[in-house]
Amino acid sequence: MNGATPKQDSGNPPTLSVVVPMYNETANVLALYDRLRAVLEATGERWELIFVNDGSRDETLAALTALHQRDVHVRVIDLARNFGKEVALSAGLDHASGEAIIPIDADLQDPPELIPELLRCWKDGAEVVNATRRSRDGEGWVKKTTANMFYYVLEKMTRIPIPRNTGDFRLISRPALQVLQRMPERSRFMKGMFAWVGFRQATVLFDRAPRHAGATKWNYWRLWNLALEGITSFSSLPLRVWSYLGLGVATFAFLYMVFLMIRTLIFGIDVPGYASLMVVVLFIGGIQLIGLGVLGEYLARIFEEVKARPLYVVREQLGFSQETVDYVKTLPGR
Ligand code: UDP
Ligand code: MG
Repeated sequence: MNGATPKQDSGNPPTLSVVVPMYNETANVLALYDRLRAVLEATGERWELIFVNDGSRDETLAALTALHQRDVHVRVIDLARNFGKEVALSAGLDHASGEAIIPIDADLQDPPELIPELLRCWKDGAEVVNATRRSRDGEGWVKKTTANMFYYVLEKMTRIPIPRNTGDFRLISRPALQVLQRMPERSRFMKGMFAWVGFRQATVLFDRAPRHAGATKWNYWRLWNLALEGITSFSSLPLRVWSYLGLGVATFAFLYMVFLMIRTLIFGIDVPGYASLMVVVLFIGGIQLIGLGVLGEYLARIFEEVKARPLYVVREQLGFSQETVDYVKTLPGR
């Protein structure tokens, strides 16, 4: 036993809620808990620790249940299957009762020791405190370059200032969280959604550590899809660009037609031109397919939204005052 004090302070809501989504993180549970507890005890605030088990296939749930039995600060939400990090995080946020809520990754890449500084900014009046990576050391140049390109494109395409190199590690005050909970979308690009909320935002810089244990679930294909999610959720530019592109191509075609007519009138009919014809047909065909593909990206997302399925399903929850499990979470206004 780690000397955890099992004192029950259920009557009063905590000031601080730390929310951790977890997928196959057995090897990190204890190390994370120890470091978080040390930091949170030192703040002198009332706190709770919400772990969301996102359908792990290893011993994560057993480890979390053991922790909950040992320390009343620990609350556990067990989702019915793997819903993905963004949804798991949303589930945790919905169950948080603190005045300041801190989402953090389970792999100790985000240092818990930064929490007092986040708290200080919050007490100084910031309603959202972003934790931004000072450097991306330990990442290859491919990852760095693609990440930079992504942030550049996103900045150009949307009017919402989405902070660079900022993950989900941050502090959100309850008012900001309430706004976030009113955002019903199923395409949950969290860093964009946090930024959309607005409010008085502050930034704290930190150095990101490598993963404590286990492997990342992000490969380039998933990162690419995350990028698509971000762009389609926060910009309609890719949809609208086609009218202008079409207008440009049509104008060019018209001018070329005039040129060809005049040339034919002066110099007579000119038969060769197979190669240029082929290039033009293939080029326009390619452009049209890309346009269709972009339409498809948005259409698929609209389809996801109109189905309006629940965002997540809770199988079991430990440590929450209302012991009846609300299996299905439906969003407001649905
Ligand atoms: N995670 C999750 N569900 C998933 C994938 C990841 O809850 O389907 C959690 C994971 O356990 C970790 C956090 O999301 O706490 C970040 O995941 P990871 O470290 O793999 O991402 P990275 O740090 O590489 O962006
Ligand atoms: Mg990580």
